[in-house]
Amino acid sequence: MSNTSLYPTYARADLTFERGEGVWLESSDGTRYLDFAAGIAVNGLGHAHPHLVATLTGQAEKLWHVSNVFRIPDQERLAERLCAASFADRVFFTNSGSEAIEGAIKTARRYHFVTGNPERYRLITFEGAFHGRTLGAIAAGGQAKYLEGFGPRVEGFDQVPFGDIEALKAAIGPETAGVLIEPIQGEGGIRPLPHGDLKRIREICDDNGILLVLDEVQCGIGRTGRLFAHEWAGIEPDILAAAKGIGGGFPVGACMATEEAAKGMTTGTHGSTYGGNPLAMAVANAVLDVVLEPGFIERVSRLGLTLKQKLAGLVDSHPEVFETIRGEGLMLGIKCRVAPADVVAAARDHQLLTVGAGDNVLRLLPPLIVTEQEIDEAIGRLDAAATEIETRIAENRKG
Ligand code: PMP
Repeated sequence: MSNTSLYPTYARADLTFERGEGVWLESSDGTRYLDFAAGIAVNGLGHAHPHLVATLTGQAEKLWHVSNVFRIPDQERLAERLCAASFADRVFFTNSGSEAIEGAIKTARRYHFVTGNPERYRLITFEGAFHGRTLGAIAAGGQAKYLEGFGPRVEGFDQVPFGDIEALKAAIGPETAGVLIEPIQGEGGIRPLPHGDLKRIREICDDNGILLVLDEVQCGIGRTGRLFAHEWAGIEPDILAAAKGIGGGFPVGACMATEEAAKGMTTGTHGSTYGGNPLAMAVANAVLDVVLEPGFIERVSRLGLTLKQKLAGLVDSHPEVFETIRGEGLMLGIKCRVAPADVVAAARDHQLLTVGAGDNVLRLLPPLIVTEQEIDEAIGRLDAAATEIETRIAENRKG
């Protein structure tokens, strides 16, 4: 590892990419990699998508930034389009997922504050959750490894086991403002909440006068074969945090809410210097142009099934390495019998980029524009990586 002046917060692979096109990345020595990580579900349209490049360069020549004290037409347009395509009536734009989550937490607390229940400030969250790295987000995520040494912890989060409806009900009290959940846990290991459970949580929120807040930072914007993952359950949240795929690689996030839930977010209650600036909004609108094209999201669903089926074949042929497949659309995880980091490394040796997650899971998050041929190519490379790992296991057994 080279010695740099950066905070050493990331354990980085000694690998540098210089350019990308579609599902392919090219490293500094000219090697081509098949990118099935997509910046952890960010590059939904792959690399250097022509429509995004043209939009970004065109906007760069006109206007980069103006303050949010002025009207920003592309911001209004993107908000309208997101609302038209979803449950939401109001949107606040941010630069990241963590900020979208902070906005969601603030929106939920303010709602109860302005509707006469200021004592309702607590959110119920789930074990294994990941909501980002800001102080509120690490408190919401509740994971000791991200909280250690950063105290005092932001107060107001009660954690229950993921999907445990009884524990959730028991945790609701007079101070509860809402429930914050990822419909599919991403960092936690591609753990989908059964659709019926999300429906049940919606009902519980309604019965108790509390808000349903969804973190769709990783699973939103077409990733699961619906614009938002909660659509699979046939429910609507009150508040939702989106990011990653929404900017296709440009730092964009969004906190979306119903008119009712957004009630407390009046003039002066929240803000961001860069959030929703003209450059970001031009790109995010261009992303939506493609994602909302008729058939685009349905194709994600179809390709997801293809990928899932082919991964199941790999599980059958490598039972010592892989265990089960889970996920929805092109947000898939393979539960591994070996350390996922070893599979990531072996796959990388075959020029296939993947990413690990919690619960011993290898994540496959290809750009949504991936083709069936590229899926076959990735399967071949993962097959070769798994074979290598098996050989190593057999040698260790002998040795
Ligand atoms: N929520 C979820 C579900 C995420 O997966 C992530 C990022 N992995 C975040 C929040 C935080 O997003 P960001 O890193 O953009 O702050």
